[in-house]
Amino acid sequence: MSLGEFQLIDRYFKRDYTKRDDVVLGIGDDAAVVRLPAGQELAVAIDTLVAGVHFPRDIAPRDIGHKALAVNLSDLAAMGAEPAWATLALTLPEPDEQWVHAFASGFFALADSTGVALIGGDTTRGPMTISVQVAGHVPQGSALRRHGARPGDQVWVTGTLGDAALALAGLQGRAEVAVTDRSTLGARLDRPIPRIAEGCALRGLAHAAIDISDGLGADLGHLLDASGVGATIHATRLPLSAAMERHLGTSGNWALPLGGGDDYELCFTAPESARGAIEARFARLGTRCTAIGRIDERPGLRCIIADGEIIDPRTLGYQHFTGAGE
Ligand code: ADP
Ligand code: MG
Repeated sequence: MSLGEFQLIDRYFKRDYTKRDDVVLGIGDDAAVVRLPAGQELAVAIDTLVAGVHFPRDIAPRDIGHKALAVNLSDLAAMGAEPAWATLALTLPEPDEQWVHAFASGFFALADSTGVALIGGDTTRGPMTISVQVAGHVPQGSALRRHGARPGDQVWVTGTLGDAALALAGLQGRAEVAVTDRSTLGARLDRPIPRIAEGCALRGLAHAAIDISDGLGADLGHLLDASGVGATIHATRLPLSAAMERHLGTSGNWALPLGGGDDYELCFTAPESARGAIEARFARLGTRCTAIGRIDERPGLRCIIADGEIIDPRTLGYQHFTGAGE
């Protein structure tokens, strides 16, 4: 039960690096050393999860391991970067070996499937806090940014929207979720799949991109602000899961797909001329990708709900659905 810090690291986090020949030095020295491929730029992101703030204390440690890495990989995906390396700062109230074992199994299942090597970190004692930093690379000058959207661009989103928020609303008794939908929705909340290949496929096609962590309205809003443009989107075009269709059928409430957080889908804009290439690339990836509206010169985000009724999705109170996520 009470392994020391170094034994814990050795047993659960130190792995061999044979799968990545760009790791010159991994865990075990004062710093890691990696080799950046020629012609590539480094993309770096970090996110911290605090127990009781960003996740409930009773969530499975395996899922925390997955999600702590997934949310960071999603940020790299939104840049069109290919992930390569991660570091992990773990603060635990006590060296609970069972917890660490489960956490590491979730973390490494995703790290291995995305080709990411854990190359270092820090282990300290205190209130449970998990910081994961990821680094990856992107060909020089081709990172996707928030600021390139232009009037006339189409606005696209990957996957389906609002499922994680619907799962959370179900758990908190704010929405009715059918028993048969619970496990699929729960997976959307606890084990999001970062859109890495999709982000890379958008290099050279998308004018601007962002990942949806705080809800479509909030995150598309950030992209619009960065680009100095506005957008009009159509609620009827939003890609929805069958479970979300059922929720909308009974509640008629668009707050979850328009404002719910934790989806980790990508939202991007691209010129009309790129439509064919986008559809072809996403068909090859087997990922749904949907055009939901258009970039306008006029600032602001307008969503056409029905019969010409227009709302700003940013007024839907999404913070209520995303918890205290930052
Ligand atoms: P230092 O005191 O020089 O900062 P540490 O004693 O904190 O080094 O860590 C020893 C080695 O173990 C370092 O290579 C560090 O990157 C790694 N390490 C520590 N904690 C973790 C962790 N939670 N996950 C991965 N690597 C870790
Ligand atoms: Mg040192």
